[in-house]
Amino acid sequence: MNKTTIYCFRNDLRLSDNPALKESIKSKLPILLCYIFDDHSPKQWRIGRASRWWLHHSLNSLQQKIQSLGGKLILRSGIWHEQIVKIAKETQTTEVFCQRSYLPHEIEQENKARTSLLNLGAKLKRFNSYLLYEPEEIQTKAGTPFKVFTPFWNACLNQSDTQLPLNPPKKIDFSSIKIKSDPLQSWNLLPTNPDWSTGISNSWTPGEIGAQKRLKEFLKKSTEYKNQRDLPASEATSKLSPHLHFGEISPRQIWHQINKRIITDPSATKGAESFLRQLGWRDFANHLIFHWPDLPTQPFKKEFKKFKWKNKTKKLNAWQKGLTGYPLVDAGMRQLWETGWMHNRVRMIAASLLIKNTLQPWQIGEQWFWDTLVDADLAINAASWQWVAGSGSDAAPYFRIFNPVIQSKKFDPQGQYIRKWIPELKHLSNKSIHTPWLASKNELDNAKITLGKNYPKPIIDLKFSRDKALQEYKKIKNNK
Ligand code: FAD
Repeated sequence: MNKTTIYCFRNDLRLSDNPALKESIKSKLPILLCYIFDDHSPKQWRIGRASRWWLHHSLNSLQQKIQSLGGKLILRSGIWHEQIVKIAKETQTTEVFCQRSYLPHEIEQENKARTSLLNLGAKLKRFNSYLLYEPEEIQTKAGTPFKVFTPFWNACLNQSDTQLPLNPPKKIDFSSIKIKSDPLQSWNLLPTNPDWSTGISNSWTPGEIGAQKRLKEFLKKSTEYKNQRDLPASEATSKLSPHLHFGEISPRQIWHQINKRIITDPSATKGAESFLRQLGWRDFANHLIFHWPDLPTQPFKKEFKKFKWKNKTKKLNAWQKGLTGYPLVDAGMRQLWETGWMHNRVRMIAASLLIKNTLQPWQIGEQWFWDTLVDADLAINAASWQWVAGSGSDAAPYFRIFNPVIQSKKFDPQGQYIRKWIPELKHLSNKSIHTPWLASKNELDNAKITLGKNYPKPIIDLKFSRDKALQEYKKIKNNK
């Protein structure tokens, strides 16, 4: 059998700026490209339903690209390290290349694969392309991991410039070894009966081409990013999150395109800095999960283990369905259900209502987002939910309880976002759209709204629930 190198795609479903792929090509041996769908080892963090839809289409797009270059993507399902070793045995490979992961269950798989491959006389070679900076690269002066974002980001900015992105390979010498490959359809990643994915399909184009197109569109409007990123109706953010999560574009490619934009148009500098800072938050979440692997399930601040959360199924259901009676929150939850994505500010407000006003455990909201977001990311989702809960490393202070009405008036003053996602409220005035329960009977009648029938009354009193939350949070603070 001719010698072969294996390249195993993970959350790096692209050919351009892929250092691990480039290194595998450098080995000068024919390459076998594969992807392993491991639905076992992540346990409770098996990929969620919206993300499965994305994965299917992203793999489909990658398969087509590889076929157009004359190759084939081998698809296997099963426990990652077992499948890697199986493919290595079938092809008598001595080198397996892949992107490095920072997630606890994937690190465990890498370690097991490394040991088993060594027993076969083969090596696992991993490269970073998921983050701008590797978690070990960024340390405090004392040599410890960072717990606070701003000094972390300053330390990142003090590093030497990120390397230039790599071009896609012009040619790949594909291995001619024939081994079994699953049909993508057999993984049943797409919803059937009912197929709820129409809204998601209409909103996104998974794959490398879709990601590059999204970046190009964002670059045109990035000057306004800083001023408008908090306005959910403005469409001012990049919507690159699912593309970044699945690695259809690298953070380094984005970094360099944004910096190029500043050189040609210095007025874009403020927007660019503010945007790059968000990529910093992405690195920071991965830094945290790498050093504190129980981040998705355990409060970072250990005193929160004693917090007395409540389980209120009715309120949880209302929140999930976008029927809380607070229009901005409901608009966000419906945007999430329809498109698999929600604007960042609305994510914070919706999460705050669930955690702080109804005192439900943050892990319940985290799980719902995990299942419904197309950008569901174990590190970022966990860090963000903990941030809102106040239990995170660099979290919102406990007394910060977003008021969904004030936030609505401030960030969606004309109610455009609310009208888009809650059409039943669209005839209310700009004043009443934030608080339908305060509208006059006449206005409600004219807008054809009967509260409690075609739009709910608020499920919770904001002032009362806020006072209750502050009491509970103070207990934690005093017991530290
Ligand atoms: P942009 O504003 O264009 O930002 C560019 C990129 O920076 C994003 O694509 C994302 O990769 C990164 N980024 C932006 N904001 C953050 C942030 N606060 N923390 C870390 N990285 C960030 N983001 C996810 O990618 N996956 C999640 O599972 C996720 N869960 C969240 C849960 C909650 C409760 C909250 C409050 C936020 C969550 N976020 C999550 C962060 C943020 O809301 C999204 O990254 C952002 O809305 C994606 O839209 P965008 O690509 O237009 O962002």
